[in-house]
Amino acid sequence: MARLGDRRLWLFDVDNTLIRDIEHPDPFPDVFPLLEALRQRGATLGVLTNVGRLSSAQIHRALKRAGLHFDADKIFSAGAAAAAYVYNRNPDARCFIISEGGARDDFVARGLEVTNNPPVDYVAVGADRGMTFQELNFAAKMVHEGAELICISGSRSYPGVYLGAEDVYIGELSIVAAIEDATGKKAVVVGKPLPEIFVETVKALGFSLDDAVMVGDNPNSDIAGGRAAGLTTVLVRRNPDNIIQFDSGGLDTTPDIVVDSLDELIAKL
Ligand SMILES: [Mg+2]
Repeated sequence: MARLGDRRLWLFDVDNTLIRDIEHPDPFPDVFPLLEALRQRGATLGVLTNVGRLSSAQIHRALKRAGLHFDADKIFSAGAAAAAYVYNRNPDARCFIISEGGARDDFVARGLEVTNNPPVDYVAVGADRGMTFQELNFAAKMVHEGAELICISGSRSYPGVYLGAEDVYIGELSIVAAIEDATGKKAVVVGKPLPEIFVETVKALGFSLDDAVMVGDNPNSDIAGGRAAGLTTVLVRRNPDNIIQFDSGGLDTTPDIVVDSLDELIAKL
């Protein structure tokens, strides 16, 4: 392997890697010295997160409030990845979206048509704590009539704060399960570890895959997908209780490098 420090693009996971999670944006102190060392070497720093309920712009603001400065155009969310996935297959697609607003913004930003009326080509579902029965029923109806079903990211549940209540909430995969059950159709999960997302992100930033590093806390999403796409992978051991459950889809979850703290990486550059 070429020297880690020669890699010019570094992509970071957000939840339990840079900050505790997007709704508790306390940064890990070991993040700052690594980002500073990478900046001094002229590396490009980006973010690839499975959060789909917030838009890339909202994630950018949350990181900024935590004192972590990334360029806004280098933040890639599962919502943005799902929008790119749809756009690559049908740029004129009409899309019905269940999400808290973030994914809708990402689809509109990609130039896709977001609609609440038939006909619908794609039904894309992210976590949504304000979802109504009508929305769920309409989504199932559209899928039954032939729309493709996309699950934005793939968490069963996640910790969060909603209307002041600290709790664990039902994730997008569980909402999608209801639509799958009602229609007999299977969703495509667009989020890490889908290798296409890593390839798209690295390409969009103008780098080659062997020039990119993925840093994350989750073997099943960050490492499995990054490795399958051909990136160098770094696993940082964080709080195991905060690792969100994703399905690796049978991909190899072995990281190239394992650290207990991100500042350990500085000596390896
Ligand atoms: Mg994570």
